[in-house]
Amino acid sequence: MTHFIVNPQSRSGKGASVWAEVEKQLKLKHNPYELHMTTCQGDAVKLARQLSNKAKETGETINIIGLGGDGTLCEVLNGLNLSDKVNLGYLPTGSGNDFGRSMHYPSNILTMVERITDEPETMPIDFGTVKLGTKPFDENRFSVSCGIGYDAAVCDALLTSRVKTFFNSIHLGKLAYLVVGLMELFKMKLSDGYMVVDGKRIELQKVSFISCHIQPFEGGGFRFAPNAYAQDGLLEVCVMSGGNKFALIPVLLKALFKARLNSPYVHHYSCKKVYIHMDTPRSTHTDGEVHGPQTDITVADSGQKINFIKI
Ligand SMILES: [Mg+2]
Repeated sequence: MTHFIVNPQSRSGKGASVWAEVEKQLKLKHNPYELHMTTCQGDAVKLARQLSNKAKETGETINIIGLGGDGTLCEVLNGLNLSDKVNLGYLPTGSGNDFGRSMHYPSNILTMVERITDEPETMPIDFGTVKLGTKPFDENRFSVSCGIGYDAAVCDALLTSRVKTFFNSIHLGKLAYLVVGLMELFKMKLSDGYMVVDGKRIELQKVSFISCHIQPFEGGGFRFAPNAYAQDGLLEVCVMSGGNKFALIPVLLKALFKARLNSPYVHHYSCKKVYIHMDTPRSTHTDGEVHGPQTDITVADSGQKINFIKI
């Protein structure tokens, strides 16, 4: 059976109309499915957990398709009881859509639906884990990226400001990221710290952000980790540090236009695991969902794979 976990609130309420279009196609083609609508944050985690637990018990292979923004995909991923009985798929409605962009999704939602329903093929893909703080907290999973510093502050501002809703309402959702990004740049404070990359300690000065990637893009189209590849079992870490905060502007522009990030202030690392310490608490995010200021985070490639339905 194919189960759809639908977030109707995604993309400032556009999720509901995208689902209506998808459902019409499913009915037209007589594709069997079950619908599970989310009503609040955390619902997709619970639904994914219930469905995947049941699949493991009964031995029935199921497809769980998240429909929403990258945050919805992240929730579904966090709820999954991983087994060879569960395939994960994703139909993006979000304005950020870094997952679909990274995975070269087609632009048409109905093409995506066809690929999911007509003899779907799966591929094993990686996901990351992040522990917040120094205590052995529960791990959060992510499918795109997680970060500390400026990139997370932008996510935080996007979730709380009306800028995103406004730009979505005039179909210029991407612009919201740029406008909020500039606003946050003026507020940003740099922090010193260090990180330990697969056991090797690296001192850091004037960090504006550190992003850890399974997929190359984050923040609604910024390619901070061109070498990130979701099948190599590695995390790509992008560190922006050392300059004054306005040194970030050319880097952001290059990332947005998919140019090489050749800047003395940008460093990339490939690793299995990174521990990051900031001397002052900084905002953190996983897949664009904000977790609040932290001084310490541990990020890793999970070492596990998801059966992902190719689109
Ligand atoms: Mg990788």
